[in-house]
Amino acid sequence: MLDNQGKSPVFQGLAGRCPACGKGKLFAGYLKFADRCNSCELVFDTGDTGDGPAVLVMSIVGFLVVFPALAVEKVFKPEVWVHALLWLPLSTLLVLLFLHPARGMWYGLMFKFNAGEAVLDDEAFPVKVDTGFASGNAQEERTRENL
Ligand SMILES: [Zn+2]
Repeated sequence: MLDNQGKSPVFQGLAGRCPACGKGKLFAGYLKFADRCNSCELVFDTGDTGDGPAVLVMSIVGFLVVFPALAVEKVFKPEVWVHALLWLPLSTLLVLLFLHPARGMWYGLMFKFNAGEAVLDDEAFPVKVDTGFASGNAQEERTRENL
């Protein structure tokens, strides 16, 4: 299944390719994942990237826009509308440019590390509750049925 031509699933996702095989398309739209890989049939609905890619892109774009904006303000002292005319379209453009590959990269990371949403499955992952009270030298461990 991991016949991704020796490339990292992260780079495959960054390129918008299936992180498992590196051949199929990961996306069915700008941000919408395809239902499954058209090459290896990997189902893409197993992972939800959530807000992670958006936060990453906001941080990067913020860094790329705020410091030039401060420099322009310091040197030229333009009117506020000039800042709005410069930095709002640039921010929007950079977000649109980075969000697609960031989402693919994030999915590749999730695939690589077998990450997913937390599930409460008692057999596979018993819920461990640290009550904060030490009973002897062992911490109390409960499953969901005991709560
Ligand atoms: Zn594939």
